[in-house]
Amino acid sequence: MSQYSTGDAKWYFEPVAVQPNTNYTFSDHYMSSVPTHVVVASFDSAGNPTYIDAATNVVASSAAWKQVSVNFKTPANSAKVSVYHLISRNGWLQIDNTSLTAATTTPPLPTVLPPNGSLEQAASGAPVDWEKQSWGSNTPTFAYPNNGRTGTKSVKVTVANYVDGDAKWAFKPVALTPGKDYRFKTWYKTNTQPHVVARYIAADGTETYHGMPNPEPAANSSTTWAMYSDTFTVPQGTVGVSVFMFLTGNGWVQTDDYSIESYTPVSFSQPLVSVTFDDGFEENNTTVLPVMNNLGLKSTQCYATEYVEGIPAAVDAVKAFHNSGHEICSHTVSHPDLTTLNATDLTYQLTHSKQFLESITGPVKNFASPFGAYNAKVNTEIKKYYRSHRTVDEGYNTKDNFNIYKIRVQNMKDTTTLAEFQSWLDKAKADKVWLVLVYHKVTAGTPGPFDTKNTDFNAQMNALKASGLTVKTYNAALDEVSAQL
Ligand SMILES: [Zn+2]
Repeated sequence: MSQYSTGDAKWYFEPVAVQPNTNYTFSDHYMSSVPTHVVVASFDSAGNPTYIDAATNVVASSAAWKQVSVNFKTPANSAKVSVYHLISRNGWLQIDNTSLTAATTTPPLPTVLPPNGSLEQAASGAPVDWEKQSWGSNTPTFAYPNNGRTGTKSVKVTVANYVDGDAKWAFKPVALTPGKDYRFKTWYKTNTQPHVVARYIAADGTETYHGMPNPEPAANSSTTWAMYSDTFTVPQGTVGVSVFMFLTGNGWVQTDDYSIESYTPVSFSQPLVSVTFDDGFEENNTTVLPVMNNLGLKSTQCYATEYVEGIPAAVDAVKAFHNSGHEICSHTVSHPDLTTLNATDLTYQLTHSKQFLESITGPVKNFASPFGAYNAKVNTEIKKYYRSHRTVDEGYNTKDNFNIYKIRVQNMKDTTTLAEFQSWLDKAKADKVWLVLVYHKVTAGTPGPFDTKNTDFNAQMNALKASGLTVKTYNAALDEVSAQL
């Protein structure tokens, strides 16, 4: 389009027959040098048109194909429609892969691209709005290869001489709405097990990191692009968010085509809360058991059995929880990082703890991994012996993201405020999802980073009781949500 004064111009498909009063989704891929518009032209049986502005000022994208997707309802007199993706100013517009489908369930959500999510925009040989980040003792190499899943660019990080720390490419933080849910997607190739984390930046510059479920397949996707797709909830007070795939060992990961879109969790029939405890700290027998029993709340206690076996007082404590209706859960024998073990040791850690606990209390159905460290191989072994795997990946368990071998949690820390705790309860209630809390030691003394002061714990349990939310042991909650899947 040049010499623009008024009007518009478009390529469009011949009108097709549609049902009246029905939701449809139109989508295409496009490139454009200027903002463009999408208009639905509806025709009645006599051919008289009605126009619906379906999308105005669709963002320009001159370097990479983008997708636009719009929903509309056909008018009561509609017999046929066409959809015009049109240009009405000087510039150019190219479209491809046009589709029109009856909207089935929920309409597709708008896609919010992180800056340069396609990685096609380069300046001085580097991707615009992307940063190389690493820390710890390792040798990272950052590359910007001339190939990608789409387009001609992607990013790759290779780590050698790994001792500790991590390395990643990350897009510059974007502003997302606190309290809201989003879906993060990226495509990747790798020869190792990458991890994914959401980085949240508060107004005062404080950064917190929330782990997301591990990408699978991992090591076997070194030649084929695989998609990673998972959800996160932006904490209150967050002003900037980045989400990245990173390496904590030798190997490489290449990524391309990042997106973040709004996400609405699919609800269960009612919200649920489960309160879990890891490791089996002796002090919890006095700081947790009487408090929960007084409030009528049942917990799930996950033991590393090396701290129990052969210690009569510790065995009595396990029985005391069991006899009050709390669930007993396995957390291995000696609390190793399961991803580092050979097959024999892995089997022993999974089976011996279960056998020992069952010898005291009866069936032990569920498992929590030490450090939340797992990969596909570890999860395959867990499945042989346990009904489920509780991780420390942060989030809520919803009807549509539910993975019984990657149960999500909120991790209690010594810094967790009552307001933050209450916001998790409110979120579970509003969305009717399953909130699983992970505690470690609850202490009258000075708490460590993953411990909780006993006075804080009392306030949290009182808030939980006051919320009116249904609190169930982890296994009882699994029964309830599994029946709805
Ligand atoms: Zn632990």
